Amino acid sequence: MKTAIVGRTVIPGDGSEPGEGGVLLIRDGRIERVARRVPRGYLAVDARDCTILPGLIDAHVHLCLGGEIHFEDVLFRDPPELLALRAAARAQELLAAGYTTVRDMGAPARVVLALRDAIRAGVVPGPRVLAPGRIITATGGHGDFLPEGVIHRWGLGLVADGPDELRRAVRTEIKAGADFIKFCATGGVLDPQSEPGTQEFTAAEMEAIVTEAHRMGRKVAAHAQGTGGIAAAIRAGVDTIEHGVFLDEETAELMRERGVFFVPTLAASHNLLREGGEGLPPHVIRKAREVGEAHRESFILALRMGVPIVAGTDAGIPFCRHGDNALELALMVELGMSPLEAITAATGRAAEALGLPTVGTLEPGKVADVIAVRGDPLDGIDILRDRGRIALVLQAGRPVAGSERGRWPG
Ligand SMILES: [Zn+2]
Repeated sequence: MKTAIVGRTVIPGDGSEPGEGGVLLIRDGRIERVARRVPRGYLAVDARDCTILPGLIDAHVHLCLGGEIHFEDVLFRDPPELLALRAAARAQELLAAGYTTVRDMGAPARVVLALRDAIRAGVVPGPRVLAPGRIITATGGHGDFLPEGVIHRWGLGLVADGPDELRRAVRTEIKAGADFIKFCATGGVLDPQSEPGTQEFTAAEMEAIVTEAHRMGRKVAAHAQGTGGIAAAIRAGVDTIEHGVFLDEETAELMRERGVFFVPTLAASHNLLREGGEGLPPHVIRKAREVGEAHRESFILALRMGVPIVAGTDAGIPFCRHGDNALELALMVELGMSPLEAITAATGRAAEALGLPTVGTLEPGKVADVIAVRGDPLDGIDILRDRGRIALVLQAGRPVAGSERGRWPG
């Protein structure tokens, strides 16, 4: 099957500017090349008012949550079956918003692992999902939400302490089907007891997690907000730093040197305080206020120092809904990235961070995960947030969403 999208320009996703041709040729679900006109034998779809770019990637979402203010109530009240069905509905929202790949960052039980498998098998529509299973956390740490003495069958966090227990925790999640491992290196904003600046695992504990995960061929993502915890996580060998709220120059330099990717999740702190945090518990409002400004400064510092930055929203946490994920790109541009850099952070660079060599750019041979958007996001990144402008979303060359979906052959 040979198809062509005739657009105005093509943004390749590898960081380079759009070239001359506006026609993207797709063959058997793969990118063939960018051309100036449609060759003979191709079925062409006219999208001349559209910019063509790779399907977007969000490197930090929580599919088990939908932006609820009191998310613990949902997580610990509803059975995993219900959480999974809701997660499946959110996966469709993400597709409609032009997101063809997401990295989930932790869910109870096997909620998102099962959804990932169902999407992969074609049972339900949704983006390609990478999932870690549960979040590995220290006792009383950021991912240990339950009050002392309460046992719950479906924890969001897998609590473990000491190198031996942590190796077992890594193996447990890999056995459950984890694509990568996530752990909390420091406290955070949303739980009742931790502090964002506090390191929660020792250097030896982090090393045990990372060494074991890498030995098993899995990447490692660290929720890391305080400077000391970020540095310890980097030294332990993690692949991505999530949030990175209190980054300093020395730590940023260490990240750049070691090629550790930074997933700032600017949308998270932006959304938490957007409406003054109304309805949130007082401890969340206090902590969100404490990190807000530092978070933005860390992003600006990382950008200036050349740390590889990847787009991720934390969609699912309070006020952070799935479907408005391109808000992250708008915030990155507001803080100094060019629109092209922001798009790269949500396409080629993100695929690199996640270890997905077959998606993220429109280079020949890649899987044809492609979107067509009316207008030019290089002129105004905000258009990526406008659902009405998404004309076409393709996964492996097949139409899955967008207003022009019906015109696409197959
Ligand atoms: Zn998160």
